[in-house]
Amino acid sequence: MDNEALKKLAKEHGFAEAYFLPPPDFPRHEDEPHIVWSAEEYPWADIALILLWPYSPYPQDCRIPAYYIASNASYHACVAFAKALEALGVRLKRCELPIKQLAVKYGVASPCRSSLAAVPGYGTRVVFQSMLLGADESHPFKVEEYSLDEPDLCASCRACINACPAHAIGESGLDTVKCMRYYMDGADYPEWVYGIQRTHMGCEVCQAVCPRNAHIPAAEPPEEVARAFEINGLAGGDTKAARLLVGKNFTGRGKLQKEAIRFIERDGKE
Ligand code: SF4
Ligand code: SF4
Repeated sequence: MDNEALKKLAKEHGFAEAYFLPPPDFPRHEDEPHIVWSAEEYPWADIALILLWPYSPYPQDCRIPAYYIASNASYHACVAFAKALEALGVRLKRCELPIKQLAVKYGVASPCRSSLAAVPGYGTRVVFQSMLLGADESHPFKVEEYSLDEPDLCASCRACINACPAHAIGESGLDTVKCMRYYMDGADYPEWVYGIQRTHMGCEVCQAVCPRNAHIPAAEPPEEVARAFEINGLAGGDTKAARLLVGKNFTGRGKLQKEAIRFIERDGKE
């Protein structure tokens, strides 16, 4: 299997792109132990493979987190894809790499003022998955070169600064602890977050106004997704189907139920 054969297999698993980058050579970040920062950890690895899974946002009044639905689907696709590669004898390690840093360094994505990374053609509406690959005679994978040729849109745009309900974005970028997403790992958020949160498990306001995403039309959520996130059901504790769709790891300790109750308290019954 070579680069082209792997890209074809990745497409069959739902990924739009597969990028062949060098393994990370950045200094280790001790505060993010789950991320593989250094090639020294896997000296056999020749390639950092970044897989891209694009998604469409849901309409602006929808509370369902399009990103998390896509993220969970892409995770399961990546597991199946890795198994298929291993069955073909490819040496790999599925792991979380410093994807944004790699994508920006090697010309796959542009850094945005909102702290996200935008990929030409896909904007910021993407989920990345990653793994390390070893190359050998049967699998002569090679690093590929990419180049970005687009103007720095952020230089002349303030859309996300003006739209952020938490005032977390300024001229020089994102103030992480002011962003709602910073608090979404736990199940209980500060009161000010409950006061402005519109979407379950996060916020996509800065992405909704970003001109890099203007070409991506919103799509209605599929029926089974809409049913799983019916707000009165969630508020009553019926969260099983929704948790399966967005991943159980992210939704423990009654997170979705608490959010639904707070949405109803604040905005009334829907
Ligand atoms: S909304 Fe404008 S300033 Fe913000 S990330 Fe997008 S292009 Fe950059
Ligand atoms: S995700 Fe929401 S709170 Fe965070 S920077 Fe974007 S608009 Fe602001």
